[in-house]
Amino acid sequence: MTITIEPFIGSVFSHQSQALFPKVPHEPLTSPFFRTAFTPSAGPTLLIDEINSKSHRYPDLCHVCQPCVRYWDLPNVGDKTHLSFFEMVACSSFLPNGRWTTMEHIFKFLTTTCSIPPDRFWATRFGGGNVLGCGPFPEDTVAIDILHHLDIPDSRIVDVAGVEGFVANSMEPIGGYRCELYVDLGTQNLTCNQCLPGLCTCGRFLELVTSVAYEFEVLNRDSLYSISPLPKQFMHATGFGVERLESILEGSGIIHHTPRFRHLMPFVNQIISGFSLTYPDQIRLVDTLCALLFLHADGATTLSGKSNRSRRWVLNKWIKQARSFHSRGVSILPLLDEIKRWYSPRYAHIQDADTSLLLQLVHAQQYN
Ligand SMILES: [Zn+2]
Repeated sequence: MTITIEPFIGSVFSHQSQALFPKVPHEPLTSPFFRTAFTPSAGPTLLIDEINSKSHRYPDLCHVCQPCVRYWDLPNVGDKTHLSFFEMVACSSFLPNGRWTTMEHIFKFLTTTCSIPPDRFWATRFGGGNVLGCGPFPEDTVAIDILHHLDIPDSRIVDVAGVEGFVANSMEPIGGYRCELYVDLGTQNLTCNQCLPGLCTCGRFLELVTSVAYEFEVLNRDSLYSISPLPKQFMHATGFGVERLESILEGSGIIHHTPRFRHLMPFVNQIISGFSLTYPDQIRLVDTLCALLFLHADGATTLSGKSNRSRRWVLNKWIKQARSFHSRGVSILPLLDEIKRWYSPRYAHIQDADTSLLLQLVHAQQYN
């Protein structure tokens, strides 16, 4: 299936879900909740905001379409499944049965609107045990009940341990049980030894949906973690990567066979004429400039002071990448402006981003 509808999956989802899960504004990439990095997912920010504000600010059910950046995926960009900049749609619930509601809603969207056959879904869930030296935590039986309710049988559910099945890290002050849905792309390589979600190395399974029960406080003191139940508020969030879904609907499962890249690659070809840039490098160029443009628009390039040292270190990873293209003679300004035109209809704040200033920053080697 080629996606011809505009605007794309995130907006289709928003349109359909507005009644049950009203849309709330996305966080800037410089969200104060991720002090050592930039917003990496759509899940936790609402709950952290609720806890910090000490009042109930969001509807009990809501959804968000969130631009995300992940510096740790930069080395993987150019492969079939990773980007350092992407959009994530997530449904959140502050109600006790929110895991059921959010997972059911998104599963229904994927299997009806998107027509992904239900029997192509596999799942992972936390099988019990310690997480980052804390615990032990019991196995996630709620996930099993929900997956059975979605008609995903035990034969397509894989138990995982540790942080594969439980969100806990140094960036987010909250976490909890993680359940993921994978789509079987039907491309099994017979040499794959453990062809199961989370273990497979042949590319048969594409991780699409992540559902997290944010029920725990996660504290990290010099890599010594403590994980304890949140006293009052909790939240359940279930989300999917927009580009990953587009790639599945396109039939390839390849994350740059999607509308964004199909639109931008002709511009890349124009500005690199005369240069030898490999195809994965061209993907890296687009991905890097998308990330930088959104980071710049959200104020990441003006962060200063000791408290932002870690974030400047992270930002520098994209700046360096852009500089490597710039120093090879690639004219990045026209591409930045085209990316701006591409995203402006859905993210109005991008229109104000000064791309010339961004180019100066890349050129100036300020971030060394
Ligand atoms: Zn495999």
